[in-house]
Amino acid sequence: NTPLHELDPDVAAAVDAELDRQQSTLEMIASENFAPVAVMEAQGSVLTNKYAEGYPGRRYYGGCEHVDVVEQIAIDRVKELFGAEHANVQPHSGAQANAAAMFALLKPGDTIMGLNLAHGGHLTHGMKINFSGKLYNVVAYHVDDKTGQVDMAEVERLAKESKPKLIVAGWSAYPRQLDFAAFRRIADEVGAYLMVDMAHFAGLVAAGLHPNPVPHAHIVTTTTHKTLGGPRGGVILSTAELAKKINSAVFPGQQGGPLEHVIAAKAVSFKVAASADFKERQERTLAGSRIIAERLVAEDVREAGVSVLSGGTDVHLVLVDLRDSELDGQQAEDRLHEVGITVNRNAVPNDPRPPMVTSGLRIGTPALATRGFAEEDFAEVADIIAEVLKPTFDKDALAARVTALAAKHPLYPGLK
Ligand code: PLP
Repeated sequence: NTPLHELDPDVAAAVDAELDRQQSTLEMIASENFAPVAVMEAQGSVLTNKYAEGYPGRRYYGGCEHVDVVEQIAIDRVKELFGAEHANVQPHSGAQANAAAMFALLKPGDTIMGLNLAHGGHLTHGMKINFSGKLYNVVAYHVDDKTGQVDMAEVERLAKESKPKLIVAGWSAYPRQLDFAAFRRIADEVGAYLMVDMAHFAGLVAAGLHPNPVPHAHIVTTTTHKTLGGPRGGVILSTAELAKKINSAVFPGQQGGPLEHVIAAKAVSFKVAASADFKERQERTLAGSRIIAERLVAEDVREAGVSVLSGGTDVHLVLVDLRDSELDGQQAEDRLHEVGITVNRNAVPNDPRPPMVTSGLRIGTPALATRGFAEEDFAEVADIIAEVLKPTFDKDALAARVTALAAKHPLYPGLK
């Protein structure tokens, strides 16, 4: 029972340093969040020791009576949260949830449609060297150059031409809501399945602040660690009709033993996500991204060649367009890092700069909302970001403003 600090001071020091980084800087990577202490407690529990291949009540190992309870709670809660007929809570990650969903429905060589990676799609939606691009014939759709929004006329045309077996709707970098009913109508017209990957916006859906894809899609996949604010992991929701196919695609199709400690943590996060506090947090998440988008389209920023893709946001992130700025994505990311704000650079559609440099930034508000940021705090962050992106960059003054905001909203105060 030797504690980590004694048993392995090297790893302990890195963990402590990471806690300090999270506490002292402002986390604005759109796919990140801070899990509640109770979620981390469940994930760090003795459940990590248990093998439980199979599903609750039908396991290939003895001694599963307690993990059965945990997994069933997670299943029941997530079904209730999103109104789904079936849930599989075992995927180790979002990518594995998507892989299992595709294995359940497709054969190698089948045609799928997904949003192009450079236009905001995810690797697993058909990127060339991802399993999805290697196994399937991918027909990518895009956002419209002028509106920055998914071109549904193109989706319809490509679907009719290519007759996909599966259409994937979902994104990793897109500031607007998708029209799930329109996707389903197109899928039905061409005899395709519709899969919605709501990894990014699942927390907004759970709070009732974003349309729910579940009534429209055959399958909905998600991660549990982004806006949903739980442990790192994946979930697949589906119609009752697809339940068996989904379950056997996850196990034994793709995974061995489920991570019951992570499933316990997922269960806790689903309880949190059904609460009034969670809804209030998601409201602040949305308000924060709107405040940032509004600040970044103001005239002083526009003069520096900075703008916002699609002109604003309906979700928890803002995509900054630096195509007309002297700063590229890498330089802007570095400057923000220097003042204590963490974001990621991001390619914009038809990006003139190379993928490792890019002409964009993806800025998200979920982690700061979890930290307790109110609208006035987001206004201050928005102004700091605006000043960072202008030629008159005063690093020390801006870093001091970041430090003050971090101190105003302590993170994990009980943890050392
Ligand atoms: N789906 C979407 C839309 C994502 O944005 C991501 C991650 O960024 C994933 C799936 C993959 O999740 P994971 O990193 O847990 O594999």
